[in-house]
Amino acid sequence: MKAITLLGSTGSIGTQTLDILSQYPDQFRLVGLAARRNVELLADQIRQFRPEIVAICDEAQFPLLKEAIADLDPQPILLAGEAGVVEVARYGDAEAVVTGIVGCAGLLPTIAAIEAGKDIALANKETLIAGGPVVNPLIEKHGVKLLPADSEHSAIFQCLQGVPAGGLRRIILTASGGAFRDWSVEKLAQVKVADALKHPNWSMGRKITVDSATLMNKGLEVIEAHFLFGLDYDDIDIVIHPQSIIHSLIELQDTSVLAQLGWPDMRLPLLYALSWPERIYTNWERLDLVKAGSLTFKEPDHDKYPCMQLAYAVGRSGGSMPAVLNAANEQAVELFLDEKIGYLDIARCIESVCDRHQSDNCPHPSLDDILAADQWARQEVLRVQAELEKGDRVVFLS
Ligand code: MG
Repeated sequence: MKAITLLGSTGSIGTQTLDILSQYPDQFRLVGLAARRNVELLADQIRQFRPEIVAICDEAQFPLLKEAIADLDPQPILLAGEAGVVEVARYGDAEAVVTGIVGCAGLLPTIAAIEAGKDIALANKETLIAGGPVVNPLIEKHGVKLLPADSEHSAIFQCLQGVPAGGLRRIILTASGGAFRDWSVEKLAQVKVADALKHPNWSMGRKITVDSATLMNKGLEVIEAHFLFGLDYDDIDIVIHPQSIIHSLIELQDTSVLAQLGWPDMRLPLLYALSWPERIYTNWERLDLVKAGSLTFKEPDHDKYPCMQLAYAVGRSGGSMPAVLNAANEQAVELFLDEKIGYLDIARCIESVCDRHQSDNCPHPSLDDILAADQWARQEVLRVQAELEKGDRVVFLS
């Protein structure tokens, strides 16, 4: 029985992970839970899974949570705030921590879990994108495993099983094309929030669904792949594959290409991150190639998806630039979801902020440098937004 802690338990990744745990009570035991602010759902989860320790990040919700589970005996250890989430991440005998927290908020808890010797089932790509220069050396130092739960990176990881060191030549990430794959570039100026939240294939949280529409998600995944698998950016490609059946591919030195296929269901990469290196039987719908029908591919449209090339450029710059890109994107997407900026402003804001950071890029950032870059980038996006609001022409340096 494997002991698991889950961070971000009330989000999309969290609820799907708990769905897996409830299907395999003999395989997995839940040690800790952490969530942002959804007291009602968190209380239900505590009742069902009886973890030893629980944290709620939003401190204002703590009394409500306490009250909601007052009748439970025994009581779990209850904590609040970001420090509470960090405590849950490093607590007890959990062997693996699933990081389903959205955004860079996952960075400190992930580092705490690594330092406590726990394997990481990485469902929070922002951690590695912003913190790669710090996280990767820690993984090595503490001898823990970083098991990708992002569907594309899980596919690559699965294909890599049995490939000897040095055998990998190229990574091909597949992208669905997101909500606007059939829209013209001209029409994108009229995008509403509801349009961006309609993902054609995957059921995911709001932030990542908008990231899929801009293809920033794929850009971030390019950087994630660089940190996970060590390839140069020239050897990581993106191809649009609207059906989302092939979850990604690898090319080996001899030009042989391996792919991993399945219906688009996040539970599969999550299960493999938890069961690796074992394969657990499931009764989930099996892939039927005839039912899947045609699998098609096309080149991504750079005019339509400027965030993609921006991510490549930022990845190549390295240092603290990916942290700035990631934070600027988180802030811009939040403003878009709050209807404070338009859809096309997302890429404009991020590009402007990245341009301003060029001259301050820190080539070998410490954790403090990364956190400072993250904070700075969020403020900068707010400043650009204020300029946009005033109707000032925002000056782009590039
Ligand atoms: Mg993905």
